[in-house]
Amino acid sequence: MEAIDPSTGARIETYEEHTESDVTEALDRATEAFDDWRARSIRDREQLLAAAGEVLRENKREYAETITREMGKPVTQSLSEVEKCARVCDHYAEHASAYLDSDPHPSPPGSTVRTEYEPLGAVLAVMPWNFPFWQVFRFAAPYLAAGNVGLLKHASNVPGCALAIEDVFREAGCPEGVFQSLLIPSDLVDDVIADDRVRAATLTGSGPAGRSVAATAGDHLKKTVLELGGSDPFVVLDDADVETAAETGAWARNLNGGQSCIAAKRFVVHTDVYDDFLDAFVDEIDSLAVGDPMDEETEVGPQAREDLMVELHEQVAESVDAGATIVTGGEPLDREGIFYPPTVLTDVPEGCPADSEETFGPVATVYEVADEDEAVDKANDTNFGLGASVWTEDRDRGERVAGRIDAGCVYVNQLVKSDPRVPFGGVKDSGYGRELSEVGITEFVNRKTVWVE
Ligand code: NDP
Repeated sequence: MEAIDPSTGARIETYEEHTESDVTEALDRATEAFDDWRARSIRDREQLLAAAGEVLRENKREYAETITREMGKPVTQSLSEVEKCARVCDHYAEHASAYLDSDPHPSPPGSTVRTEYEPLGAVLAVMPWNFPFWQVFRFAAPYLAAGNVGLLKHASNVPGCALAIEDVFREAGCPEGVFQSLLIPSDLVDDVIADDRVRAATLTGSGPAGRSVAATAGDHLKKTVLELGGSDPFVVLDDADVETAAETGAWARNLNGGQSCIAAKRFVVHTDVYDDFLDAFVDEIDSLAVGDPMDEETEVGPQAREDLMVELHEQVAESVDAGATIVTGGEPLDREGIFYPPTVLTDVPEGCPADSEETFGPVATVYEVADEDEAVDKANDTNFGLGASVWTEDRDRGERVAGRIDAGCVYVNQLVKSDPRVPFGGVKDSGYGRELSEVGITEFVNRKTVWVE
């Protein structure tokens, strides 16, 4: 497995893939560790999570630089990512006991009935490279707190991150086998899911990868949580604060080089404010500092992999052939590394790639709509349903419009973001199940009814 620096194209390091017997040993270790881990008190597990948060904070510069080197995120954003991972550890260190407290039920006379939350065992997590620490801690913190043990199959372009995360849990004091990284290619994932020692699977990534994992897990009657792509609408109504919407929208599209499932991708703008919004939005986009991701001034770094940038540019080129207009950007940058400029498209025909597919890079499409109904129709005109953002000075109107959008979350006058305290996940082709909050921690547990007469 090779780690390549996308800002230069240079190879950073080569890692030996794990063999079949390495995987078997890891699964044995996971099974052994589970017996001890589930028997510990929740308080004990909470303390180890708090310790993992401390390890993250103590070494945040080192981890941030590993992220930036392997996938090109600007280092300031990598630092924020590591801090957010520490916060999700803190969150479950503080709240896991309450979230997993047994629920009493109204009981028939002479009996007591309650629900206990018991862990399932080893959970396989197939994770992507775009937030290589956050996506992992988002599953690991709640599932480990619940008493499960974790197996990580990370994206093949971030092996250094995968091993660094394993070290975080080791340094925090978690016993061997509680959290392990498997350096394996994706074609070995089915065998791991099929193994009796693995009890559930979670995947964050593309639709095809999600379908494959869900099909195999279904064959073996194992539960899955899928967090797939998105094509989030960013709806600007006629009474919006246009300047703030434009500034936030530019950031919501270009954070992480545009490689985020919850990035705002389709900007749906009321005709009365369309020209003002477009001018302000393009000014903001053009002012973003693109460059060396290790430079603290950089706001947009390289794309993570060459093949993904080629795919993104094909989506733009096909959309332009179909009639879309490039307002800014639109061609890979002529410089060392894998750089695509922040790009804005207008006159985007229905059904062209930039309209109907997820664009996983810094490409925004802007649509002009006549009224609120047309805005809602355009917002919902997608196979995805992850997040949405609505901009209006009238909060009641914002809530009304939020209720009409098919998505896992809608933010009014705010960009879409994940937060340890609130559930996160999608509908339609964006997947199913929820991560984070009290909902995330109970996705992979046995809700056991105990009836005592
Ligand atoms: P993938 O979905 O291919 O990769 C995500 C993870 O799934 C990786 O660990 C990958 O392993 C693994 N994987 C891939 N195929 C399978 C499979 N058939 N069975 C089991 N595991 C599999 O994403 P890419 O990195 O190729 O990116 C492609 C597109 O996916 C992006 O352009 C974007 O649209 C979407 N995406 C969405 C993300 C999100 O946050 N929802 C994150 C990343 C991508 P390996 O790396 O070894 O192939």
